[in-house]
Amino acid sequence: MVRESEIREGEVAVEAPPPTDAGLVFIGRIRTPWTSRLMAPRQGRVDGPVCRLDIFEPWVPALKGIEFYANLEVIYWLHLSRRDLVLQSPRNDGEARGTFSLRSPVRPNPLGTSLVKLVGVEGATVLVRGLDCLDGTPLVDLKPDRCRFTPLAPRQPGDDEVGDRNP
Ligand code: SAM
Repeated sequence: MVRESEIREGEVAVEAPPPTDAGLVFIGRIRTPWTSRLMAPRQGRVDGPVCRLDIFEPWVPALKGIEFYANLEVIYWLHLSRRDLVLQSPRNDGEARGTFSLRSPVRPNPLGTSLVKLVGVEGATVLVRGLDCLDGTPLVDLKPDRCRFTPLAPRQPGDDEVGDRNP
């Protein structure tokens, strides 16, 4: 039986410093079909259910142009996570790995990221597939998966000798 905030064999918690406000502003709330951490997928799938990103005011105008991108990166705050484990046992088998070698939701700053497919934009709501978070998860940021305006690095002397890294 998987429990939600247990300490498993091999896991190590530390006395984490009290969280301080890094100045995050939640820009919206994520609506998904999952109401329990035990039901949510470990990672989203682009053939998963359509989920909603409900954007709060005053950020709604910031959606302008988003419809031109097929793929978005969604960044969210895994608000129900414990934040004090340095070693974790994902399989609950006594084998523990360092938090920074895992994509576990349990981390000092519980940020989650997913690459999602854009399904549509309806006013202040963005519809996407590919999420794995609980209904009601706070939304931190939304950005195109790659910026189409990122300039290529200028050519450097010697590039031809080592092969072209920026085709
Ligand atoms: N895709 C993100 C990433 O890689 O950064 C998150 C991956 S994490 C393994 C996904 C799991 O986090 C879900 O299966 C669920 O157990 C848990 N989870 C989802 N929403 C959460 C929330 N709001 N608070 C705490 N845990 C959550």
